[in-house]
Amino acid sequence: MTEVGEKKKVVAKNSNVKSIPFATESFVPTPEIKNLWNTVHEALREEFGEAVFRSWLKPLTLQACYHGALEVSVPTRFMRDWIQSHYSSRILELCTARNPELRRIEIVVVQTGMRDVAEEVAKPVAVKAKAPLKANENIDGEDAMGLSSPFDPRFTFDTFVVGKPNALAQAAAMRIVESGNVPFNPLFLYGGVGLGKTHLMHAIGWELKKRAPEKTVMYLSAEKFMYQFVRALRSNETMNFKETFRSVDVLMIDDIQFMAGKESTQEEFFHTFNALVDQNKQIVISADKAPSDLTGLEERLRSRLAWGLVADIQPSTYELRLGILQSKRALVGADIPDAVLEFLALKVCSNIRELEGALNRIVAHADVTKSVITLESTQDVLSDLLRSHDRRITIDEIQRKVAEHYNIRLPDMHSARRARQVARPRQVAMYLAKQLTSRSLPEIGRKFGGRDHTTVMHAVRKIEELMLEDTQIAQDVEICRRALTG
Ligand code: ADP
Ligand code: MG
Repeated sequence: MTEVGEKKKVVAKNSNVKSIPFATESFVPTPEIKNLWNTVHEALREEFGEAVFRSWLKPLTLQACYHGALEVSVPTRFMRDWIQSHYSSRILELCTARNPELRRIEIVVVQTGMRDVAEEVAKPVAVKAKAPLKANENIDGEDAMGLSSPFDPRFTFDTFVVGKPNALAQAAAMRIVESGNVPFNPLFLYGGVGLGKTHLMHAIGWELKKRAPEKTVMYLSAEKFMYQFVRALRSNETMNFKETFRSVDVLMIDDIQFMAGKESTQEEFFHTFNALVDQNKQIVISADKAPSDLTGLEERLRSRLAWGLVADIQPSTYELRLGILQSKRALVGADIPDAVLEFLALKVCSNIRELEGALNRIVAHADVTKSVITLESTQDVLSDLLRSHDRRITIDEIQRKVAEHYNIRLPDMHSARRARQVARPRQVAMYLAKQLTSRSLPEIGRKFGGRDHTTVMHAVRKIEELMLEDTQIAQDVEICRRALTG
C-alpha cells in the first residue's frame, strides 16, 4: 500500500475542527497525490459537464493531504457548503477508487484575496428601511425610458416552492439578494419552459426592492431589450439607451435565447454587459439552455455568460409538483382533496405552468357550478387535457426515448439480454409504458420481446421502489417522462 501524503502531525480522525494549517510543509501533497487529484478533477469535468464544472468544481484546489484525508479549497463559504452537500461524496468515491487509503475529503475556504466573500457571507445583512409594498406596485416609470418591465406580484420567494430540481437556482437567487454585494456575475439561470426562471427573477426584483430600495433594478425580456434597442436606433436615442442601461445596479434579462441570430443586439448587449461587470453591478440572465448550447449567440458572449454562476432548473419531480399544488391550494383557500392534488401531480407533469392551469380550471369550474371538487369531477373537467397526453404516447416512442436517454440500442428493449445496463433501462421503459399509456400488462409484455405480464409488474414495482431511494433513477425517469409528455 502506498502512503498517502506525508504527515508529521496526528489529526483526530473525526474531528471537524479546521485548525490544521493547510499547505504547511508537512502536509504538502506528494507528486503522486497531485497526479491523482488532477485525474479526479478531470473526471469531474467529464462527469458533470462543462457548465457545472466551471461554476463549482474548477476552483477546487488541492491544498494538503494527511491521514487519509485530502484537503481541497474553494474561494467562498457558499461554494464550500454547496460542494459539500452535492459533490463531495462523489469526489471521495473518485479518489478512493484511485487510492483506497483516501477516506475523507476536507473542503476548506481559502480566499483568493480579490474579494472577501467568506467574510461578507458571515456578516449579517444590513436590512434597509423596508418600504411597504402594495400588491400591484411595480418598477415601471422608474427609468426615464420605461425600459423595465413590471414584476408580477405572485412571483416572490415566499410563493416559490423549493425542491431538488430547483434548489441550486433558488439558493443562488437568494444569495444575490442577501449578500448586498455581487457574489457572482452573472447569475445564469437555465431550464425548460415553465419551470420557474421568470418567477425567480421577479422574486429577486421584489426582494431587492424591499431590502435595498435605493437600487435601480431593471428587468426585461431579451425580446424587449432588442425592441427597445432598435427603437432607440431609429429615433437617434442610442446614447440615452446606453446610459440608461449602464446606470442600473442590477440588470436582469429574461430568455436570452431570443437574441440568437440578432447580431447587432448581441453586440450592444455584450458592451452593456461588460460595462456593468466592470462597475461590479449585478447581472442575472435566464435562458432555456446552458450557455454553451446557445448556438445562435456569438462565442465571446456565450463564454462571457458562463463566467459567473450557472444554475440549472431540472424538470420537476412528483414531490415538487405535489408541493407546489399544496402551496397553491393554501393560497387559493379552496377545498381540494389530497387525492386530486396527487392525481394532478402524477398526470400533469410537462411543466409547472400547465399544472397551475389545470388547478385553476378545476377551481373555476367548482366555483361556477357551485359544486365540490372530487377526483371524478377533476377527470371530467380536465378530460381534454388528460386525453391529449395519453393520445400521443405509444410504447414504441417510450422505448425509443428511453433507449436514447440511456444510450443503448433499440433492439435491446426486446432482447433477452439481462445485463444491468440494458435490463434497467428496459424496466424504466416498462414502468413508463404502464404510467403513460392505457395498455394492459400483457400487452406491454408482448411489446417487450414477448415477456410475461408478471415480468412487467415486477419491473413497475422495482422502478417505483428505486425511485424512492435512488435520485439518479428518479431523475432519469422524470427526464424521459418529460420528453414524452412535454
Ligand atoms: P419559466 O420562466 O421558467 O418558463 P415561470 O417562472 O414563468 O417559468 O413559471 C411558470 C409558472 O409556474 C409560474 O406561474 C410560476 O409561478 C410557477 N412556478 C414555477 N416553479 C414554481 C415553484 N417552484 N413554486 C411555485 N410556483 C412555481
Ligand atoms: Mg420565463
